[in-house]
Amino acid sequence: MPDYSGPERRRVYDLRFRRYERLLEVARTLSGTLDLPALLRNIIAAATELTDTEAASIMLVDSRTGQLRFEASTDPSADVMESIVVPVEGSIAGAIFSTGKPLMIDDVATDPRHYRGVDNKVTFVTRSILGVPLVSKEKSIGVLQALNKKKGEAFTQEDLHFLEALAAQAAVAIVTTRLFQQSDLIAEMVHEIRTPLAALSASTHLLLRNDLSADQREEMVRTIQSETSRLATMTTDFLDLARLESGRARFVRERFDLPKLVHECLQVVQPQADSRRVTMDVLLPGEWPAVFADRGKIKQVLLNLLTNAVKYNREGGTVHVSGLDAPDHVSITVVDSGRGIPPPALPHIFEKFYRVADSEGWTQGTGLGLAIAKRIVEAHGGAIFIGSTVNVGTAFTFTLPRGK
Ligand code: ADP
Repeated sequence: MPDYSGPERRRVYDLRFRRYERLLEVARTLSGTLDLPALLRNIIAAATELTDTEAASIMLVDSRTGQLRFEASTDPSADVMESIVVPVEGSIAGAIFSTGKPLMIDDVATDPRHYRGVDNKVTFVTRSILGVPLVSKEKSIGVLQALNKKKGEAFTQEDLHFLEALAAQAAVAIVTTRLFQQSDLIAEMVHEIRTPLAALSASTHLLLRNDLSADQREEMVRTIQSETSRLATMTTDFLDLARLESGRARFVRERFDLPKLVHECLQVVQPQADSRRVTMDVLLPGEWPAVFADRGKIKQVLLNLLTNAVKYNREGGTVHVSGLDAPDHVSITVVDSGRGIPPPALPHIFEKFYRVADSEGWTQGTGLGLAIAKRIVEAHGGAIFIGSTVNVGTAFTFTLPRGK
């Protein structure tokens, strides 16, 4: 029985008071955040503080597969963890998720349910687990776990009490954020779809008139073609963005050769460049470390930057692609000789649906490409930058952490 007299009692009360204060502070932060990754980071930071543990993680259920996935973790290898699927059958998190009841395990080595698939892939070694279900409207949506009580101590009922209180707030905040992002995006999408639809409707009505010349008819049909293909691109881009914003996008990371991917992308864009007589060249260091990232998603980023560099270029312009191998990251820069972007537009360039009104090539775009690129790069722990001078050209640089 702990000694709760005198100074020890005071210490316990002080600690409890600080925890309550922290819980209140977290409640305020959580309800004010509508960015899912930031929200999840706040929750796990609070979980380790409130339970005095070394690490914490959140797993959410994938509604399509019914499996649990790491969505956030305090572990430095969080990006590796995201690709780990935790089986619902045969894991501690799975047991918490399916029973909807918390579990407190002071020595996981002795628990047959402990899923070793995680420890095998990350450097972190789990000794003890306190896990609680994340429940919204009586439905489990995932699990919040605090790992390794500091100083090797055992978990207490009070730790459980605080983690449950945090989980209750966290579950509501996660569901609200997802809903908010969906409805926000849907409203914007509906708004954006109206423009191509109006163009399509006007063109078809005009086509029915019998006083049109053959040239006018052809122009109408071309408008219909380009607006239809814009709608198709918009739908795909929109789905990509919705997945990225709600944290449902899956990244399959692998080690790959970035220069090879750059050349592959240049080939894809070549016909488009040829049709505008734009020349493209590339200069990358001879030795280049392998990067560890989602190849398909990085290809999407590169293709977007290269397509824009051609699309918003002048006839007969140039596109230079170069790379830098810095100690902690690699970067790729795409420079074009296009019309550039006016300074007032620059701060908005990565916002979804934002487009510079007088850009050449405007009719072909959706204004979603750069918003998607930014989210993809940031989800990999990288960053994307822009520099532009009107009538001279634009440069985009994105970085990726070096492969581990
Ligand atoms: P879009 O589908 O319209 O190209 P993006 O998100 O890729 O959408 O780009 C957003 C806007 O940024 C474009 O509409 C264009 O106005 C501007 N932009 C992007 N890249 C360039 C560039 N290389 N040069 C000039 N303007 C650019």
